[in-house]
Amino acid sequence: MKIRSITAPNPGPLTLDGTRTYILGDTAVIDPGPADERHVRAIAEAVPHLQTILITHRHADHAPAAGPLKKLFGAHVLAPDDVLDDCIVDVRVHDGQIVAVADTKLEVIATPGHTSEHVCYLTADGDLFTGDTILGQGTTAIFPPDGDMADYMRSLQRLRARSPRRIHPAHGPTRDDAVALIDEYIEHRLQREEQVLEALRAGATTLPEMRERIYQSLDPNLHTAAEIQLAAHLIKLAAERRIRQSNGGYTVAREE
Ligand SMILES: [Zn+2]
Repeated sequence: MKIRSITAPNPGPLTLDGTRTYILGDTAVIDPGPADERHVRAIAEAVPHLQTILITHRHADHAPAAGPLKKLFGAHVLAPDDVLDDCIVDVRVHDGQIVAVADTKLEVIATPGHTSEHVCYLTADGDLFTGDTILGQGTTAIFPPDGDMADYMRSLQRLRARSPRRIHPAHGPTRDDAVALIDEYIEHRLQREEQVLEALRAGATTLPEMRERIYQSLDPNLHTAAEIQLAAHLIKLAAERRIRQSNGGYTVAREE
């Protein structure tokens, strides 16, 4: 099956060069993108026989263009719970569901973590559409409370177990080294978790102290985002009783 992509004109620190809308064959798209007139027009021109719109998660740079495209083409919209209104979404997808689109079949894989409802789509040929669960470069942002680091790390393992051949992320380039990329993502999170524990053992107790130790010479504009990522790790570690919270600070639970 032919896979093409169109990048939305929404570049930024979290969207990289912009949201990639994938076109499957001649009739389906995954993640139509932001409700940006130029982007909607570009999709309409590239897929004049659009029938199916699939969505990975609810974020504003992924889902909203489904509205205007549905209006233009009467296309069917498939999305997990909590994405757009029921008047736009025709079918709510769930883990394990098989959906027939273009001339192929896609399996829905629930991958909570980046958001609670996030799903990925996998073809029988091993093409994996990862939305924001895995990006073509850099790392995925996990913003609690909806973002959940423990769920996210389990989702990476689930994708790893499927041994995909290619990863088509919503941001950044398609990657042919799919399994190696997933391994890198898993390794990065485990390493970060270890760094958080190290920082706590070394006496850091607050998020800014931990951030200073772990992210040295970070652009000040990214300080808050970095601290939120660390908070996501702390929530996971606290749930696992590997750290304790007291008096507004954190300490490592007694280790064997
Ligand atoms: Zn997102």
